[in-house]
This record gives sequence, C-alpha cells and structure tokens, in this order.
Amino acid sequence: MAANLTSPRTLRELLARHNIRLKKKLGQNFLVDENVLAKIVAVVDPKKEDRILEVGPGVGTLTLPLARRCHSLLTVEIDPRLIPVLEETLAGRDNITLVKGDILKTDVSALCRKEFSGKPVKIAANLPYYLTTPFMFKILPSTLPLVSLTLLVQREAARRMVARPGSKDYGSLSLLTEFYSRASLVFPVPPTVFFPRPEVDSALVFLKPRKKPAVQVSRTDLLFRVIKASFQQRRKTLANSLGDMLQGGKPQAREIIAAAGLPPLTRGEDLSLEQFAIITELIYNISENDA
Ligand code: SAM
Repeated sequence: MAANLTSPRTLRELLARHNIRLKKKLGQNFLVDENVLAKIVAVVDPKKEDRILEVGPGVGTLTLPLARRCHSLLTVEIDPRLIPVLEETLAGRDNITLVKGDILKTDVSALCRKEFSGKPVKIAANLPYYLTTPFMFKILPSTLPLVSLTLLVQREAARRMVARPGSKDYGSLSLLTEFYSRASLVFPVPPTVFFPRPEVDSALVFLKPRKKPAVQVSRTDLLFRVIKASFQQRRKTLANSLGDMLQGGKPQAREIIAAAGLPPLTRGEDLSLEQFAIITELIYNISENDA
C-alpha cells in the first residue's frame, strides 16, 4: 500500500531515510493535511482525459491523488535529492513523467507539446514563494493551451493577483493576472498544514485563462513596460514614471496623461487595466509616428 504522505511522521521517516534536510530557499514546505489536500484536488477537478502539469512535486503528495484521476501528469522538480524519493513514492504509476529541472529554465510549452501532444493542460502547484511572480510572468504569456491554474501561494501573493486599482496590493502581478485570466482566491490556508511550518499564511488561487486578453493593445510587451515603469516607485506620479521611459520626458508624459483624460497627478496604482491600455496605445502611436 502507498505511504500516507500527509502524515508528518511518514514524511520525516522518508526524508531521513534519503538523508534529506529540507531547503528553505527552495520553499520546501510540504503539505501534511489530508483535508486541505482533498480540497485542492477538488478545485483542480481532474478528469480522466486531463493532462496536468505539476510544478515542484516535493515527495509527491499532490502528484499522486491528481495522477490517480487524470490521463497523464508531468511534473518538474528542481531538487535532484527528491528524484529518488519520487521514484519510490510514485512507483507503479505509469501516467507520470518526472522531469528534473528548474521550471523557470524549462521550455514548458515545448515540454508539454512533446508529453501531451499539444492537448490542453491544467496546471497545479504548491508554489514556493520566490517562484510565484516569475512563474506567472513566464506561464501566462506562454503559448501553452492552458485550461486552468490551481496554485497554492503565499496569501500576500494571492491578494496581489486579485487586487483592484487603488488597493495597496495592486501592481504588475494584478495587471498581468487580469490581462490573461480571471482569478479568484478560493480559500485561505494556515501555516499549520505544512511541514515544516512556514512563517506566512497561504491561500489557494484558481485562474481561468481568457480566450483573448482582457484588453486589446498593439504591443503587449509595451503594455507591460508601461505597467512596470508605473509601479517601479509607487509614490511617483504617472507623469514622473512615464517621463523616465519617454524620449520627450515628463512634458510628453503629461500630454499623454491629458490625452488619456486622466488628472495630471494620477499614480500608476489608480489606473485600471483599460486605462493602462489607452496610455500604451498613445505611446505606441507616438513611436510609430516618430519612426
Ligand atoms: N508539491 C509538494 C507539496 O505540496 O507538498 C511540495 C511543494 S513545496 C512548497 C515546493 C516544491 O517546489 C519543492 O519540492 C521544491 O524543491 C520545488 N521547487 C522549488 N523551486 C523550483 C523550481 N524553480 N522549479 C521546479 N521545482 C521547484
């Protein structure tokens, strides 16, 4: 019978037997709560035809219940010490492909195309804190045929993903998430359900990618450059932030802000995605006219 990986005792014994001390810098806080695990699996809602990509399987706690219900599962783990552990805990399942590597350095679209023959992909992960933002910036704009993303993240990151203009959590991650998907914070998760316990709270977020982005712009890279510049220093006015990236400096930024129908002292944190799109198109048109 398969080991109960949500049992802290089993987990400790398994790690000790493989001589592994968990690494904080890799966010190695493993789930040890059967109920939370079941709730996460219910949100992923694996169907027998589903292809699932799991990031960071750890010892396979989430991997196994997902793989039991789906067609095939591909999982990418950075820590080479966990590979023999996974080979042991996932033994006997022939629908799991285990890849050793850094998800940030992996060509995820190519890998999924190869493993899943271009079929739609669901993503599930209990993500380390350091990975959340770079992973989102990598995956959401990618060409992966994404069905959904179910992500356990630090609560602060979850709040940033679903934040609205004017709130303190609002920023580039909120705008990226909104541009590509509809996101919801599903439930909070306390530190007590992990081994070892992290110092922070977590939350489960569910993202459903949009069929087409929430706003239309001529150049997506320019939109995100404008967004990045606007949040680089939160207390700066938009005129100052945009002035730094425009050839015409702050006077040109002021003209663009006026042309967008916004007050002169507007800050990035007040702008909706639609307003960022308007600003981006105005900047794009200037660069086209200058060309
Ligand atoms: N899925 C397991 C669970 O829920 O118990 C483990 C989750 S643990 C929070 C994060 C896992 O991601 C660890 O196994 C860690 O080694 C792995 N990891 C960290 N950085 C990674 C990266 N860049 N690419 C792939 N895996 C990574």
